[in-house]
Amino acid sequence: DALPEATVDRPVNRQAMRVSSEVAVQISAMNKWYGSFHVLRDINMTVNRGERIVICGPSGSGKSTLIRCINRLEEHQSGQIIVDGTELTSDLKNIDKVRSEVGMVFQHFNLFPHLTILENCTLAPINVRQIPKKEAEETAMHFLEKVKIPEQALKYPGQLSGGQQQRVAIARALCMRPRIMLFDEPTSALDPEMIKEVLDTMIQLAEEGMTMLCVTHEMGFARQVANRVIFMDQGQVVEQNEPEEFFLDPRSERTKLFLSQIL
Ligand code: ADP
Ligand code: MG
Repeated sequence: DALPEATVDRPVNRQAMRVSSEVAVQISAMNKWYGSFHVLRDINMTVNRGERIVICGPSGSGKSTLIRCINRLEEHQSGQIIVDGTELTSDLKNIDKVRSEVGMVFQHFNLFPHLTILENCTLAPINVRQIPKKEAEETAMHFLEKVKIPEQALKYPGQLSGGQQQRVAIARALCMRPRIMLFDEPTSALDPEMIKEVLDTMIQLAEEGMTMLCVTHEMGFARQVANRVIFMDQGQVVEQNEPEEFFLDPRSERTKLFLSQIL
């Protein structure tokens, strides 16, 4: 057994990443089916504010479905999901509230190709949050600076590299001032040389205290940043632990097999 290699070369300020006792997300006895296929089985999970959780597991184990349930891109059929004190039900008011507090970053960026980078970042703040255009643009420039691409603001997504587009996607999510960020394999579609710049942006967010749930196979990132690694298989949480324990002393055979395949 060995610890995965670090994915970024810079020292990571873990001291700045404090976990509070306040609950951000509470999932209890949650189940989801796609038709007759039982995709998530009895999920129980508490995420405290300030936690950085990495979710890993084989393809098809339900990772995307789980995080999509947290901002109601998917609907669960039994059990409870409470985000920032609001229970996710079919009540649209609750769904809107939760979505405005939860930012999401996808594998394939999902930027609007016909809008500039700046417009991508101001669209939801202007239309959903009714922020005045000028203020929305200032906020967008603030976050584009944070992800280190302010000079790209007037370009279109197609003119940017994959790594730059993903950093725009992160900035766009931050423009809604979320309290929780969900990442679904944010670096899986990127060429290797662009992975670091995206992970570095995510680390910066973690150092600022953001609550993060990240589906990723970047185990170096998990080791450097996560306070907890969750392993899923066949719709269940099989095992979870702090990174050192998770990598050096995995408990279940399924976890051992998975780690032996990816490390
Ligand atoms: P992961 O992200 O871990 O690869 P997913 O959550 O995407 O897993 O998928 C879990 C399982 O659910 C897979 O077997 C997948 O084929 C199935 N699935 C995903 N989305 C749908 C859907 N919209 N309808 C039916 N089955 C789906
Ligand atoms: Mg997935």
